[in-house]
Amino acid sequence: MAGESKIITLEESCAAKGLRMTGQRRVIARVLDSATDHPDVEELYRRASAVDSKISISTVYRTVKLFEDAGVIARHDFGEGRGRYETIPEIHHDHLIDLRSGEVIEFRDEEIERLQQKIAERLGFRLVDHRLELYGVPVTRGKGDK
Ligand SMILES: [Zn+2]
Repeated sequence: MAGESKIITLEESCAAKGLRMTGQRRVIARVLDSATDHPDVEELYRRASAVDSKISISTVYRTVKLFEDAGVIARHDFGEGRGRYETIPEIHHDHLIDLRSGEVIEFRDEEIERLQQKIAERLGFRLVDHRLELYGVPVTRGKGDK
């Protein structure tokens, strides 16, 4: 892998997991791959049906469940009571959710990563995964602030 960063598509990850890829599943996989905003099922449906109008929302539901169970996409719950999806990133990141706009910002912080390792070790565990979500509102500066 030295020096070469090959981008693996979701379709390739699905194939590697032995999933049978129908035309509609491919469309949904491509929509997920090109998304940068952690879409929910309704939004995925909107985008996928723009490509193939025969895709139904239940197909989108079943397909994301299939992808999630196969471990090729991640489901997030950002406190809105609906799942939001993204392909499993090659490099782990965490999320900050802007409570005002609903925007999801991705970040990675080495200090947090190290700290979590240390906490797990202290408790006698080897860390295999973690999730961290920060919820915030943008800081607005008042008059006279510099
Ligand atoms: Zn993300």
